[in-house]
Amino acid sequence: MAEHWNSALSHLECGRCGTHYDADKPQNLCECGTPLLARYDLDQISISTSDIAARRPDLWRYRELLPVRDRRHVVSLGEGMTPILPLRSYGARIGVPDLLVKDEGALPTGSFKARGAAVGVSRALELGIDRITMPTNGNAGAAWATYAARAGLESLIVMPQDAPKITRMECALAGARLYIVDGLIGDAGKLAAQAVADGWFNTSTLKEPYRIEGKKTMGLEIAEQLGWRMPDVIVYPTGGGVGLIGIRKALDELLTLGWITGKLPRLVAVQSSGVAPIVRAFEQGTDTAEPWENAETVAFGINVPSAIGDFLILSAIRDTGGTAVAVDDAELLAAQAECASTEGVLMCPEGAATLVAVTRLRSSGWLDGSEEVVVLNTGSDLKYPHTATYDDPPLLAKDGELPL
Ligand SMILES: *Cc1c(COP(=O)(O)O)cnc(C)c1O
Ligand SMILES: [Zn+2]
Repeated sequence: MAEHWNSALSHLECGRCGTHYDADKPQNLCECGTPLLARYDLDQISISTSDIAARRPDLWRYRELLPVRDRRHVVSLGEGMTPILPLRSYGARIGVPDLLVKDEGALPTGSFKARGAAVGVSRALELGIDRITMPTNGNAGAAWATYAARAGLESLIVMPQDAPKITRMECALAGARLYIVDGLIGDAGKLAAQAVADGWFNTSTLKEPYRIEGKKTMGLEIAEQLGWRMPDVIVYPTGGGVGLIGIRKALDELLTLGWITGKLPRLVAVQSSGVAPIVRAFEQGTDTAEPWENAETVAFGINVPSAIGDFLILSAIRDTGGTAVAVDDAELLAAQAECASTEGVLMCPEGAATLVAVTRLRSSGWLDGSEEVVVLNTGSDLKYPHTATYDDPPLLAKDGELPL
């Protein structure tokens, strides 16, 4: 008999038209073309925050709020419970003394994509899916291929040729069928659609409902790690927006459970000025975002010209009184270097973009300096060695002498 893991999952619900779907069958989008969201019987949950505290420090500690029903289907590499670190000197310099980073760099596969992959692959295994496919800018493909290998599933990954090389190698070493395309993520998507037509299960961003459930654990952890309360502001480097939507969903669920109280944090979406469809839509006051032409940025994880969850991102920002900010590559690389030298935290380019946004929001007065601000560093910079530049070349030791 299946051993129950006490998931409170009840059904799937369309994020736009509200149609319900059976969660215990493989599902992709709603018939109206919109992402499906997992819903839970929150009033059936009888555990408390102290039960959570007694569990292992990984994301499965929130199993009641996750979709996997049987623990034997959990595919884990020890993901979750990443540290929240104060950035005291950086924060003091920019006038935001309560600046904190949730540092996702130490997760398996080096990015927070591991959260979505752990939960998505586990649930795919549980539903009897044996072949998964996706287009990716690199980190998602690396994470899903790695977790698929651990689960014994086949994976087919399509990646733009400019995606970070290490993510290619991760997919290849994990045994994925890997295809490289001379183009952007949208071009990779068109090729992955051929694999879907051939029977591979589509695990593209928000085209299956469980990646977001994995990513929402960032929001659960932020609340728990702050002592079951919310910060004033959360700043997130936004590509497909799954993390931002997930954090909002997590906090809404915790509010319904009564585990936290109060107002949602103001949610801030940060994009690169080379590809900023959400920022443009936010500024123009529209509910959806037009695709961005000629997208370009070093922050590969947020190079997403068109997001299927655009309306969910925009409503998360607007409903919470948040905002959207675009930053230049040169600015984020400078912030990355400064954070490394003053804090010992080497952020990925996407994470460093949030620091530029916080600096700008403080100068404009949007932040008054009294707020507790949590930024997300979504991955390790070790995956982007080409962005780790320095001005002074290393000194060369000659003839066994240190030229001091
Ligand atoms: C994928 C990715 C993002 C963007 O994530 P979304 O939740 O899809 O917006 C940000 N940073 C890194 C490092 C990524 O790999
Ligand atoms: Zn619908």
